Amino acid sequence: MRDSSDNWQKILSQGFRTAEQLLDYLGLCLSCSDPRAEQEFASRIPLGFAKRMKKKDPDDPLLLQVLARKEELQPTEYIEDPLKEKQYNPVKGLIHKYHGRILLTLTGACAVNCRYCFRRHFPYEENNPGRKGQDDILDYIRRNKDIHEVIFSGGDPLMLKDALLEEWFIKLENIQHVKTLRFHSRMPIVLPERINEHFCRLLAESRFQTVVVIHCNHPNELDEQVFLACQKLKKTGCQLLNQSVLLRGVNDKAQILAELSHRLFAYGVLPYYLHLLDKVKGAEHFDMERQQAIQLFQELQLLLPGYLLPRLAQELPDRPSKTLIAV
Ligand SMILES: *Cc1c(COP(=O)(O)O)cnc(C)c1O
Ligand code: SF4
Repeated sequence: MRDSSDNWQKILSQGFRTAEQLLDYLGLCLSCSDPRAEQEFASRIPLGFAKRMKKKDPDDPLLLQVLARKEELQPTEYIEDPLKEKQYNPVKGLIHKYHGRILLTLTGACAVNCRYCFRRHFPYEENNPGRKGQDDILDYIRRNKDIHEVIFSGGDPLMLKDALLEEWFIKLENIQHVKTLRFHSRMPIVLPERINEHFCRLLAESRFQTVVVIHCNHPNELDEQVFLACQKLKKTGCQLLNQSVLLRGVNDKAQILAELSHRLFAYGVLPYYLHLLDKVKGAEHFDMERQQAIQLFQELQLLLPGYLLPRLAQELPDRPSKTLIAV
């Protein structure tokens, strides 16, 4: 049966492609956005995500994550490649920076364009591995026997079609030292229909230990559709985790983050990382003072059991792991 397995692509194509369309839908005035910001980084907002925003509220926490605003154009010392990822890029589409695990960046596309994203200037086009690239990547993994985990990153790896993912699964299954496959995807949140039967079957039937790290920043992002997607993922037997980014004006309150942890838990998801913002050009207005972030985290710790407390972390260039922030 062709369940609605490809239905998500249709839903994806129905999303908003300009801030103007989104503002119109929300009944907000066009001056909330600056079209010049969209020229640097296009607008992309799935309709289902927009439906979770409050109409006529220019400060809605979901809207602020996706709205191209003039603040992005402010002069800044933040740079285009804050993580200097280009230097860890031995083969097209592969980043080898962490011990024992590699990132695959097989697509630069996402269903949503988050304005704070550190990849907003990443040269994905140059880095698209293509068909020949797949062999180079597999050779690299075969040669490096300490690689036990392959992380599908991006962009959003669930923008890839299931048939292509299946091909990767089959080829990676033949490399015995690879034990774990991990997906980092915002799809379960922004386009939950993507979690279809085909993808779930891949996860459930592979020989790998599997991890899916979703990306949710605010409890309002969680609705019934997202719940169903999480349930489907859980049923495959994968470990389901969440990472958030600490964003000024969006989730910079301990109560909001505590509620997020509790809601995620009810959805079967454990909080994993709470990231300090990567200092990428165009996103400075989302950043918080480090000391403020630490204070917020201390408040959060008072509200949550240890298993619902994410790790406060920062990605720094030249470090072979994430840096946990001491509080
Ligand atoms: C940090 C990070 C990883 C790997 O981190 P772990 O510490 O292994 O969880 C993978 N992908 C992205 C996008 C990251 O930021
Ligand atoms: S989904 Fe992730 S990779 Fe894509 S724009 Fe948002 S934060 Fe960046």
